[in-house]
Amino acid sequence: MHGWEYWFKIQLVPASGRQITVNPRGCRMKRRACVVCETNEFAQQYCHLQDQDYLRCDSCGLIYVDRLLKPEELYKAYSGNSFKSLRRKLTAPFRKFSWSKSFDKSMRRARGIFEFGQKQVTAGGEKRRYMDIGCNKGFLLATAHKHGWDVYGIELVRELIRPFINSYPQYSKQVFSERFEDAKENVEKASFDLITAIDVVEHFEDVSGDLQGIYELIKPGGVFLIQTPDTACERAEREKCGWGALKPLEHLHLFNCENFTSLAKRAGFSKIECFAPFEEADGNFVAVLRK
Ligand SMILES: [Zn+2]
Repeated sequence: MHGWEYWFKIQLVPASGRQITVNPRGCRMKRRACVVCETNEFAQQYCHLQDQDYLRCDSCGLIYVDRLLKPEELYKAYSGNSFKSLRRKLTAPFRKFSWSKSFDKSMRRARGIFEFGQKQVTAGGEKRRYMDIGCNKGFLLATAHKHGWDVYGIELVRELIRPFINSYPQYSKQVFSERFEDAKENVEKASFDLITAIDVVEHFEDVSGDLQGIYELIKPGGVFLIQTPDTACERAEREKCGWGALKPLEHLHLFNCENFTSLAKRAGFSKIECFAPFEEADGNFVAVLRK
């Protein structure tokens, strides 16, 4: 073996046998740890997409981005292209909630999700309290309001939720346009009967911390309901790097029922059940987490 070959080999395969990523400048970079197993020992490169590496943990199956970008870079991906975003900004102050495109269809979908969640709740109390994280245009909030609940929402893109607030001004102080970790400071702990995050937990940067935060907000007997892409779905297995749920600027952690259950238990949830998704899309699962 030539000297340089030997040097190169020891750089790439350390004594532990753990592989190390080498960046374009040749510096060694440690792979990010799996948030479920809390180690990078089992992390393998899964797919390189849009200048980002997705890793897969060989121990629990979590698929996750190797590098978490700064929030400013991540949130650019949410407001859509600049023309659409500008048009939305200009019209949002005047728009009413019911003017939304496919309003009836969206409300039907929201009713199905909300009524499923409502059935899972065993906590008592008169006026029930609901929060939707990533509430988008507010279809779930409007549905919960119709069912007599007090509603709270979190939506990073303010213009999206503005028409809902125009139509339901009583909730203007209960809809927050900030990250969950900041928004949670505005509400009372152990006060929510139901919290939903539909197609949202995959966007969380600190998914473990946010799950603990959500657990703290829920009442005993209350429920956290999620839908998220399922890495165990047939499309993920078949399409690998072409799987539609892989969007490295938006979907930072992709779970299956088992690894999500482990993480949720660590956050404090006592009983976790997985269900078939509300919609298949790119392959999803639903989970009900009880406090
Ligand atoms: Zn893992």
